[in-house]
Amino acid sequence: MNSFLSKTKIIATLGPACSSKDIMKRMIAEGVDVFRINFSHSKQEEFLKLSNLIRELNSECESHVAILADLQGPKLRVGVIENNRIDLVPDEIITFVSEKCVGNKERIYMSYHEFPQDVKAGEMILIDDGKIKLEVIETNKKDTVKAKVVFGGPLSSKKGVNLPNTMVSLPCLTDEDISNVIFAINQDVDWIALSFVRKATDVLELKELIKNNQGHAGVIAKIEKPEALQEIDHIIAYADGIMVARGDLGVEMPFDEVPLIQKQIIEKCIGMSKPVIVATQMMESMITNFTPTRAEATDVANAVLDGADALMLSGETSIGKYPVDTIMNMQKIISYTESFGNPFHKKYLPMEGTSTFLADSICYNAATLAKEIKAKAIITFTHSGYTAFRIAAHRPDADIFAFTTNKKLLPYMMLVWGIRVFYLNTCEQLEEAILESITILKEKKLLTEGDRVIHVGGAPLNEHGRTNILKVNEIS
Ligand code: PEP
Repeated sequence: MNSFLSKTKIIATLGPACSSKDIMKRMIAEGVDVFRINFSHSKQEEFLKLSNLIRELNSECESHVAILADLQGPKLRVGVIENNRIDLVPDEIITFVSEKCVGNKERIYMSYHEFPQDVKAGEMILIDDGKIKLEVIETNKKDTVKAKVVFGGPLSSKKGVNLPNTMVSLPCLTDEDISNVIFAINQDVDWIALSFVRKATDVLELKELIKNNQGHAGVIAKIEKPEALQEIDHIIAYADGIMVARGDLGVEMPFDEVPLIQKQIIEKCIGMSKPVIVATQMMESMITNFTPTRAEATDVANAVLDGADALMLSGETSIGKYPVDTIMNMQKIISYTESFGNPFHKKYLPMEGTSTFLADSICYNAATLAKEIKAKAIITFTHSGYTAFRIAAHRPDADIFAFTTNKKLLPYMMLVWGIRVFYLNTCEQLEEAILESITILKEKKLLTEGDRVIHVGGAPLNEHGRTNILKVNEIS
């Protein structure tokens, strides 16, 4: 299943439209590498059901589809609205209150207790993905904020709120997030995404929580706040991966800036060999239509050309009418775009003086040599994933086959551009591991006689951080 469909990976969000085993199986067959379970919409009970199904499918289909748990973070919302609708009209004055109430034209509850203290007159309030816009005119600094409607529209219950100009004092990890992190760790998830990251220390806080609870999940920092862009280099350095979360980012930032932000973040992430995900509205119209628009096809292709590790689907698969066709169509666009080779061969020179300089030099030279000798594959042995991630960052045209004795690493690496994962029985010697890897790949018809391959590994084999061997073989 899902055998080597493309280099760029696909993440699909699970939800009511695709939570049956049969649909999930078909989605994997069409190209899903990672399933996202979003705590904004799934409670722990639902999460448990879905993560069990993924594991069942992985064992039945011998696949290694990863689980990405997405935390809600400090998402702001209005409360319940009377009859689930009020119409906000331009120039109307609306009062937001900190006390829970059923919202009407007089008062609307805002799920953010410190809102009156944090906000200032002149700042914007955006509701429902920016469809409604208000300007703050006064705050009593205690429990009430008055705002004037700039762009109105219908407002229904629990709609999300963005405050692009306000320094929100809420912590990045809410109590609910902490409980969900511990729950997700117990389900052995591979990745945890942190929403509304503002500072590099937000990432460290989550990493600490994972470590203290004996988890192994990598942390994805979702970039969706302007503050995060001020610290983007540090955030990338501390996180294990990055998501360009264009949904909230495009509301919090001027939308005209989002395309270049996407390109800049991707470039930085590739340079620091951190996986980067492009998310939201990639195939949005497929929530209701059986084909994407030309603009969406172009958006997907552009993210592939930018070199993103993975492209993410949200509503298209979780609540859409065509979850399987969406994967099939996205895969088609990715495969066609990749067949022209543009995302390949990035050149990032290893940095002298860093602790990983030798390993990085080997990975860099493996990628350069692979291009020169037209190698069919780079085969790497990895304990932490570092060598495989580093090779992938050079975006080689050659296949990247990552072998590991660490079972937990198999789904973890599925998120990363180009990496295909294999379990390696414990081998004592590097030579032994090289022979075993070739046997496995020949059996799977991924290598044939005459193919040139480059092995990258370390001797002694089972020591961490010891990438020191690059070997060229011709398959006989
Ligand atoms: C986004 O805002 O683009 C995003 C991916 O986050 P969520 O789907 O959790 O709102």
